Amino acid sequence: MTTTTHEFQAETKKLLDIVINSLYTERDVFIRELISNSADALEKFRHESLTKEDLFDGHVPLEINIDLDEEKHTITITDTGIGMTREELEANLGTIAHSGSNTYLAELAEAMKNDVSLIGQFGVGFYAAFMAGAKVRVQSRSWDGSEGHEWESDGSGSFTITEKEGLHRGTKVIVELKEEAHEYAQKWKVESIIKQYSAFVSFPIKLEGEEVNTVQALWTRNKSEISEDEYTEFYKFIGNAFDEPTYRLHFSADAPLAINALVFVPKENFEIMGFGRVDPGVNLYCQRILIDQQSENILPEWLRFLKGVVDSEDLPLNISRQALQDNALVAKLRRVITKRFLKFMDEQAQKEPDKYLEFWKTFGIYFKEGATSDYEFQKELAKLIRFESSKSEAGKPIGLADYLARMNPDQEKIYYINGPSRQAIESGPYIEMFRKNDIEILYTMEPIDDFVLNHLGEFEGKKLVSADQADLDLPKGVEEKDSAEAETSLDEKQEKDLVEWLKKTLEDKVADVIVSKRLVDSPAMIVNPDGHMSSSMERVIAMSRQEKGVLPEASKKNLEINAKNSLISRLAEMIKEDEDFAGEIAQQIYDNAMIQAGLLVNHLEMVERNYRILNRIAQG
Ligand code: ADP
Repeated sequence: MTTTTHEFQAETKKLLDIVINSLYTERDVFIRELISNSADALEKFRHESLTKEDLFDGHVPLEINIDLDEEKHTITITDTGIGMTREELEANLGTIAHSGSNTYLAELAEAMKNDVSLIGQFGVGFYAAFMAGAKVRVQSRSWDGSEGHEWESDGSGSFTITEKEGLHRGTKVIVELKEEAHEYAQKWKVESIIKQYSAFVSFPIKLEGEEVNTVQALWTRNKSEISEDEYTEFYKFIGNAFDEPTYRLHFSADAPLAINALVFVPKENFEIMGFGRVDPGVNLYCQRILIDQQSENILPEWLRFLKGVVDSEDLPLNISRQALQDNALVAKLRRVITKRFLKFMDEQAQKEPDKYLEFWKTFGIYFKEGATSDYEFQKELAKLIRFESSKSEAGKPIGLADYLARMNPDQEKIYYINGPSRQAIESGPYIEMFRKNDIEILYTMEPIDDFVLNHLGEFEGKKLVSADQADLDLPKGVEEKDSAEAETSLDEKQEKDLVEWLKKTLEDKVADVIVSKRLVDSPAMIVNPDGHMSSSMERVIAMSRQEKGVLPEASKKNLEINAKNSLISRLAEMIKEDEDFAGEIAQQIYDNAMIQAGLLVNHLEMVERNYRILNRIAQG
């Protein structure tokens, strides 16, 4: 019989190194990981058998058997699941499927230093076998009936695959225990691990012939009969998770659809920790039978961080994954469950605002993603998003409803401004007028934020407006008050001449130059003509074009000048004294305003000009 030898993929080698050298305090998890793989393989087989007939070894009961040998120091886990072909053995147990980002291994090593049980989260649970095994053998025969094979390795650099006759469908993992792990051949030890980690596996687990798990579909039981611990254990089981959930929604409905749903919000967000996109975490069941694991259809993509189950007996049992995608009933379920979840979160936010803010910090990005990508739930999402504002404490964002509640009755719009930080926004020109008139303004500090607000468009009938728009339509009284105060040292003619001169001087850069009614202290600011996107959005789009190698093309904007500002009034005089130098100053004022708007300027040109100006000052 031919045996072939294969090197592990480089990433796998590194991973095995980490696993083999990890601290052994949490070694127990290897049993959970192997059982979980077996349960997955059984689910896959059950799913196939719903639609197909005459499958190989079709009569064999779906179960997991665990056998121990205290003399030979082995633990053997056998399932009658889908099995693996030769090619699958080589690929699945030789490479890491989702090693995605470059930081993956570094992050994994770091995480495992603290908590080895994280291994399942990384989609590499099988390799945990080497925490306890000096040698691991995997005998497997695929459900396609092709010949069986044995995979074998000591976890050090390579593995072999040999043909093996006489196997049944499924997979047998034989772990030859290291000396310091001999306890895993003891029945009491293994039994306690199964009870702790695998109580919810929906196939019988037999330990030396004796069934040890009680199969139960927790979500179909009455809420009042389920303890906190049971919920938490279930979450850990279904989510392959190690943390405690922060929120839990368990609900059922009979009409218009029969739904039984149990969803959890985890504590950690693996995506923002740099692990790449997470897979959806909610499984779809029909009458307790899994029909779509980690379903992409039952919830919108932006709720992929949720873990749990949705069970609906209205679904046809033998529906294929393909058909789920455009099934009208699934779409309806998705709508109902999503709305229910968002309503639940809003209630929680009212009830425990601080807890919600913690959630928001970790998972808010998903709601923002939803608000920009999914029109269907915008109303609900608008209530849940949070931003800091001129009236919020730093680090304590508020909701649009809070803004609305304390808004001046004659204020028609909700204002926001983007900036890299609270401090940067507060020292910039855009909020001067808001501060002076005691109008609250939201601070949007993430690049995506302006897209979110732009997509939402309005909240409870009040338009959402970026404060860098030219026409703000301020509450009555504000502009009058301002213009009455507007005592400038320039008379009307001087003002007009200055504006004309600036328009000419900055001709190729600005759309228009306007005497500002809003500026209080700053000499100038950039605003966007009507109908134009906010500067922050333009910046994001420019950056993405730049990444694609397309030169960003800035649209022309308006320059508002502050006629009360001494630099501006001095500029009017300077034109007559030394027009060239006045031109340099004007260019510099424009660049400064662009920078305050977060927009790109030609910085080399700016530095050269800046030196010319400084030089002139130094000369006296
Ligand atoms: P994960 O299970 O998270 O994908 P693992 O490293 O545990 O990662 O397993 C890798 C792959 O090997 C699985 O995705 C599956 O395709 C295959 N596999 C592992 N164990 C079994 C088994 N008992 N039966 C069939 N396939 C298995």
